[in-house]
Amino acid sequence: MNCFYHPSSPAIGTCKYCQRGLCSDCAAVVDDVIACKNRHEDEVHKFETLAARNLFQSERVGSVYMRNFTFYGLVGLAFVGFGWWQLKWLGLQAALFMALGVFLLYAAIANYLEGRKYK
Ligand SMILES: [Zn+2]
Ligand SMILES: [Zn+2]
Repeated sequence: MNCFYHPSSPAIGTCKYCQRGLCSDCAAVVDDVIACKNRHEDEVHKFETLAARNLFQSERVGSVYMRNFTFYGLVGLAFVGFGWWQLKWLGLQAALFMALGVFLLYAAIANYLEGRKYK
């Protein structure tokens, strides 16, 4: 492949924005990727900034799910444990605590599985 702007020069890479071949004279390095010099440098920079921001956001979403997993998991275990412990004395009321605990554990697992998608 040769440079789009200089058909006689071999291309060293392609512009991330327009995918055209670029020789060493035409290529500008923007954020570790190649762009047409003085043509698509701004566009590629916007591209990369957007991509980096998306990555950052998905990491944050993932950590929120993991925090929910820990929270629901601990509270769920506490409820189930409390219900189990009080079952003899409280009867149905304790069973309700246990049911709530199981529901929280279910929510914890759902959050865990959802959070893994972002790793
Ligand atoms: Zn370009
Ligand atoms: Zn060129």
